[in-house]
Amino acid sequence: MNDTVLIIGGGLGGLFTGALLARNGVRVTVLEKNATPGGGLQTFVRSGQRFETGMHMLGGFRRGGSIARICHYLGILDRLKLRPTDPDCMDSLLYLEEGERYAIPEGRERFTDYFAGLFPHEADGVRRYVEALYRLSEEVGMFYLREDSASIFSHSEEFLLPADELIARYVVDPRLRDVLAYMNPMYGGVAHHTPAYIHALVNVLYINGEDRFVDGSSQLAEALAGVIRAEGGRVETRAEAVRIDCAERMIRGVETADGRRFTADRYISAIHPCTLLRLLPEEALPRAYRQRLDSIPNSYSAFTVYLTLRPESFPYINHTCYCQTSHGDAWRFGDCDGAWPRGLMYMTPPVSGQGPFSRKLILTTPMSFEAVRRWESTTTGRRGAEYEHWKEEQAARMLARMERIYPAFGSRIETIHTSSPLTIRDYYGVKEGAMYGFRKDAQQIALSQVPIVTKIRNLLLTGQNINLHGICGVPLTAVNTAEALLGVNRLIHAINTKYDTDYGTF
Ligand SMILES: Cc1cc2nc3c(=O)[nH]c(=O)nc-3n(C[C@H](O)[C@H](O)[C@H](O)COP(=O)(O)OP(=O)(O)OC[C@H]3O[C@@H](n4cnc5c(N)ncnc54)[C@H](O)[C@@H]3O)c2cc1C
Repeated sequence: MNDTVLIIGGGLGGLFTGALLARNGVRVTVLEKNATPGGGLQTFVRSGQRFETGMHMLGGFRRGGSIARICHYLGILDRLKLRPTDPDCMDSLLYLEEGERYAIPEGRERFTDYFAGLFPHEADGVRRYVEALYRLSEEVGMFYLREDSASIFSHSEEFLLPADELIARYVVDPRLRDVLAYMNPMYGGVAHHTPAYIHALVNVLYINGEDRFVDGSSQLAEALAGVIRAEGGRVETRAEAVRIDCAERMIRGVETADGRRFTADRYISAIHPCTLLRLLPEEALPRAYRQRLDSIPNSYSAFTVYLTLRPESFPYINHTCYCQTSHGDAWRFGDCDGAWPRGLMYMTPPVSGQGPFSRKLILTTPMSFEAVRRWESTTTGRRGAEYEHWKEEQAARMLARMERIYPAFGSRIETIHTSSPLTIRDYYGVKEGAMYGFRKDAQQIALSQVPIVTKIRNLLLTGQNINLHGICGVPLTAVNTAEALLGVNRLIHAINTKYDTDYGTF
């Protein structure tokens, strides 16, 4: 393809799509509003420690995994510094009130045996539940980079069942139902709404093996930007698209905040579709389409506390720690009332030469945008004293939970930094600071399905709002978007052929 392509948004989706196209001879330019590319892959440094903003847990990187395949095709797999989490405990789960602890192993068999062993009266149900997870994941050919990816409307009855109902179909014990929903914060699960297939894909992704970046997620952004540049493309930072010139269903150019104008043959939006709408003239897209995008509910946001810790005061933990206040709340994490935070996750991201202690800890918990609605018209650094005070209160509530897990936890802290749903909204340009973009809804699945193609003839979409979010979903959608220009199955075939030739068929 000889066309030039301009991509708006240099996050995970924009960079993967750009790198895939660049590798296939397309001249790509990426516009990124921030000073560094990456979006959810961005990191920042406080008190000498590097923190990840939106990419802590990785799946799909194990041998034969879809993301490993894509990265190998792009020539960056060997350059990524990854560390597998502990296979005997890929995740720990603690119920504070009940004092119940789980150390959840990776691998389909071990995951099944673990819960079947702990809940012998449910052993058969656990086995059938895990079989259902894998069966549902098999229905999504793209998850395995198969060339036969089917439409979402031709799936089994369980596929679009609400995730909580899927669990309840196999498991009776309410305690175990709750436990099996523990990964909820990784997909923004909401009872009666989140489809079973989302729950299945995210669970299978991590059960198959969880990894973390060593020294931060920005290395992936740099590697992807490197591919684009090496192929003659450009990644323009501090280049916020503020206006898209569009006439007769064709984009003619994009203007940035600093007054530059970029043109190309084709355009790809890798930003939240509602953010895109604000850049386009009203008549560019049909009114019904715009109204639909605006009416899709978004997933919940998050409140995060970034801590630097005193030397040798806190252990390095080689897995993610999930903590819930008590049973019964697994589907209500985003709710912001007196009981918030109902659950939280904390992790000690690894660094090169990681020793037995960690100097940093990330503590994060889901939060609805409603919690910050009253400051929604403010901008970064100018939100006022009341907001700063509110943030301190939220951090204190989260740290109080940590104090219950680790006595004298406060004495180990050196510095505290926080981010709220407003931070996510303003740094990524994502509506309501949604962690995972549009919420997929089992009750009205057609509403949340946004196709890659649009009524604007030279505009395609990519990113987490299309299909699945996260480290697995976004690169897979990037393949779909790139293939819309390069030819269906062309990339999938090339990615698999290269991997299987170099590593042997998996
Ligand atoms: C707190 C948090 C923790 C998370 N943890 C994990 C995790 O552990 N594992 C996982 O798999 N997923 C995780 N996610 C989800 C993951 O970060 C996202 O699914 C992913 O980053 C989305 O990629 P994207 O390219 O669609 O959007 P983004 O990464 O948000 O990229 C969009 C980019 O567009 C840019 N942009 C916006 N507007 C404009 C404009 N007008 N002009 C130019 N550029 C613009 C933004 O600056 C941004 O760089 C987490 C998310 C959050 C918020």
